[in-house]
Amino acid sequence: MKAPQPPAPVEATFDSLGLKPALVEALSALGYEEPTPIQAAALPPLLAGKDLLGIAATGTGKTAAFALPLLNHVEPGACRPNTTSALVLVPTRELAMQVSEAIHRYGQKLGISVLPLYGGQVIGQQLRVLKRGVDVVVATPGRALDHLRRGTLQLDDVRVVVLDEADEMLDMGFAEDLEAILSGTPEDRQTALFSATLPPRIASIAERHLHEPVRVKIAREKVEQGEIPRVRQTAYVVPRAFKIATLGRLLDVESPTAAIIFCRTRTEVDDLTVSLNGRGWRAHALHGGMTQEQRDRVIKQLKSQGTDLLVATDVAARGLDIPRLSHVVNFDVPNAPEAYVHRIGRTGRAGREGVAITLVEPREHRLLRNIERVTGQRIEVSTVPTVADMREKRQEMLRASLRETLVAGEYESLRNVVESLASEFDAMDIAAAAVKLLHEAQDEGRDTEETEIPVVAPPQERRERTGGKFGAPPGRPGRPERGPKARGGPPTWDVTRLWIGAGRHAGVRPADLVGAIAGEAGVESSKIGAIQIGDAFSLVEVPESDANRIIAALKNATLRGKKVLVRKDRS
Ligand code: AMP
Repeated sequence: MKAPQPPAPVEATFDSLGLKPALVEALSALGYEEPTPIQAAALPPLLAGKDLLGIAATGTGKTAAFALPLLNHVEPGACRPNTTSALVLVPTRELAMQVSEAIHRYGQKLGISVLPLYGGQVIGQQLRVLKRGVDVVVATPGRALDHLRRGTLQLDDVRVVVLDEADEMLDMGFAEDLEAILSGTPEDRQTALFSATLPPRIASIAERHLHEPVRVKIAREKVEQGEIPRVRQTAYVVPRAFKIATLGRLLDVESPTAAIIFCRTRTEVDDLTVSLNGRGWRAHALHGGMTQEQRDRVIKQLKSQGTDLLVATDVAARGLDIPRLSHVVNFDVPNAPEAYVHRIGRTGRAGREGVAITLVEPREHRLLRNIERVTGQRIEVSTVPTVADMREKRQEMLRASLRETLVAGEYESLRNVVESLASEFDAMDIAAAAVKLLHEAQDEGRDTEETEIPVVAPPQERRERTGGKFGAPPGRPGRPERGPKARGGPPTWDVTRLWIGAGRHAGVRPADLVGAIAGEAGVESSKIGAIQIGDAFSLVEVPESDANRIIAALKNATLRGKKVLVRKDRS
């Protein structure tokens, strides 16, 4: 099947748009590498002072698309008491908080003041802040109208009005409130209206309140079928706080040969890479903030099987061709369907079936539907594997290895071990005990999740449009499954304990471990601490500063003639 072509490069960069330097700096600090499609299309007209009608859902980057021009226009601290320079209207209290936070983040270096106003807040505090004058007010229509009626918020100095998620505001019955608010703002204001859909009622508001608006709609109607690779596509709906735990579990169950995990920003790439490495995975970061040399090194490692997981931004992974990729993971839903198609095209090469996994936050499910509509393919929404599922998967793998060993034979020399026990114990018990040892050895060094991950049902279209809450029944709680571990004495220096997947049964002795670590990684033997040898694994204390080098060196080495697994121990 023909691999999809990379999308045409987006010409715009944040530097070339004419944003104030403080805003460009803020974006760079947040790790944004390039404008999303809605930003590339909406920023130029909005920065030029035009009105805009944008059709875009949450997750496309629309907040920055209106917030950056707004921040570029507004003069910090210029408003009189009880007035504001910019008014952003949003349907819900959650969105009011989210949008204010985003505006605060983007505009912090400019010294912009932002105030969210929504029902249920203590009014006294709002009144005090409003009295001083606020550069940007982000409000739900009902609460904004309250303040207008009290005279505690006046709109005479408003330069910019944004209606965010306008279709939701109408669905929630705010039509009249919106009319009343808009009619209280100056005629010559700039207005931007964003909506996920364009029903006639929105078109009519746009007609009456926007002045010769530029229309922006990003999604292409269809992607050519030949562009879409043969990939198993699954999505998991999880709240943000549980994404890393979910990813760990999915990686455990899916056991990818090699995977790319896509994030939206450099900062997310760096944070996720650290988290994954801390959980025992071998992950490398790839983003535009790295030097070419660093990037080349990471790509070489992935190609030569030294790396299992690459955590990357779209920009950095553009043009990358890694044939052995089995999985593509979207840690966030990509902000345009084209980006999704391009990302999943990294796997499923050469006629093999690849796997694409997407983690979706509850609010972002619309983006998923958008992608399905554009690609004409279904993305199955699945539930996150429970600890019981993971246990089941491991048992399945255990059975497979046992079956393989039974078929291959070559265990004659161990028969006597079983025979000597057979007079005391039942043969089934002996076999089960042996399996237990193997199971524990396999579990060693694995991340057995204890986190309870809520199961979030994808919201129904209707429920979501009326602002209803999503059901979130608790997932089955998981119990930690930890095998027994040999423990060393207290460390006398900054140490890390390494777990090595070979022990007494493989004939490993302390001298082999010291020899391998000193010989392969060049670490002085005097720096190697406590060594413990279990039946199927060994634990070695090494200086923290040398741990990664030792792991990398031992990966290419053999112990007693066999390649072994080495990772940081997580007891
Ligand atoms: P929104 O659609 O505004 O809710 O944004 C969705 C997410 O995309 C937010 O987490 C933003 O921080 C992030 N985001 C927005 N613009 C960009 C960009 N140009 N590059 C990377 N991430 C972005």
